[in-house]
Amino acid sequence: MNEMLLLKYGEMALKGQNKKTFEDILVKNTKRRLKGLGKFEYSRAQSTLYIKPLEEVDIELATERLSKVFGVAKICKAVICKKSYDKIVSTALPYLEDALLTAKTFKVEARRSDKSFPMKSPELQRELGADILSAYPYLSVDVHNPEVTVTVEIREEYAFVHAYKINGAGGIPVGTSGKAMLLLSGGIDSPVAGYMMAKRGVIIDAVHFEAPPYTSERAKIKVEKLAKLMSEYTGAINFHCVEFTKIQEIIKEKCPEELFTIIMRRIMMEIAERLAKKEEANCLVTGESIGQVASQTMYAMVCTDAACSIPVFRPLIGMDKTEIVEISRKIGTYETSIEPYEDCCTVFTPKHPKTRPQLKDVEAAQAAYDFEPLIQEAVNSTKAYIIKSY
Ligand code: ATP
Ligand code: MG
Repeated sequence: MNEMLLLKYGEMALKGQNKKTFEDILVKNTKRRLKGLGKFEYSRAQSTLYIKPLEEVDIELATERLSKVFGVAKICKAVICKKSYDKIVSTALPYLEDALLTAKTFKVEARRSDKSFPMKSPELQRELGADILSAYPYLSVDVHNPEVTVTVEIREEYAFVHAYKINGAGGIPVGTSGKAMLLLSGGIDSPVAGYMMAKRGVIIDAVHFEAPPYTSERAKIKVEKLAKLMSEYTGAINFHCVEFTKIQEIIKEKCPEELFTIIMRRIMMEIAERLAKKEEANCLVTGESIGQVASQTMYAMVCTDAACSIPVFRPLIGMDKTEIVEISRKIGTYETSIEPYEDCCTVFTPKHPKTRPQLKDVEAAQAAYDFEPLIQEAVNSTKAYIIKSY
């Protein structure tokens, strides 16, 4: 069957002056996601991107990939018909069978961008409505609140008909809102945080801290796998892997145990900020949620934020764990996140971390050792590589 896809813009349809730029970015993102699936023709009109295959393609796979592209509110799969009324009817009726057999009410919406087509839109609506009624006599027309809306559109080169709309990923296109450096662990939260920022148009770079031999190669592979799963939504991720062992050992040796976690997190932030600057990212992102664990109290966050000069965004800050888990399942990272591998953060976790650390105490404790050369060394020896799904 000769099918095509229509992507209906979400919020970006309202962007006024910026709409063109947003659209250009959306088209680019879409093309990247469809890479390897075949040749397509792209055209745009009325806040819709029309994607027509130019050869045999796996339309289900294309739809699945495009359902993860931000900036799209709805996706319609349509059947392409020759531009004569008879052809439209003979193609549309069988094509719409699944949708019409399960519905009680419907209406037809017609649009003509080719004004030379002999039937005007109201006539087309009436005729096609009547033909559908005679093929599916138990249906009735409801123009106000139909269960199924059959859309027929007459374009310059072809016509198409559709009745299916599935939800798109929502949000705005990745690449329209700057770039972030996401602190990505192997847990449940940080992949969700990355997804949420990408949904608002932000390009995601990621930094992961590992502490071999305390953390294993398997633990790192798990995080890479998470980045790959995220990239179905975010697009390619520039992944940075920082070796953190030496710094952690020195914190353990030189700083008070109860402040271990907070000092470690401050140094992570410092390293992440330097990598962010190198990659021209404008902010840091973490998966923290207030009160979730001892290191995520407001006091602790004040102390970590003081260690860096660019904004730290925490998109999960007000969410319950159950809400985060729900998104994690939806985006497909949950099953990987719960694989039991160690994280560098938990390697030296103190028995009694301070939940109300004071910045001046933390700064004084951290000043017991000059971490600067180690921080710079960690930045310089960071390995960066691209992780992507397609
Ligand atoms: P997550 O599920 O994202 O691991 P968490 O609830 O386990 O979060 P923490 O371990 O306290 O919480 O980590 C808080 C945040 O710090 C994480 O969401 C992540 O952004 C960052 N983080 C923790 N460990 C690492 C790591 N090894 N590399 C990079 N970032 C990390
Ligand atoms: Mg964690």
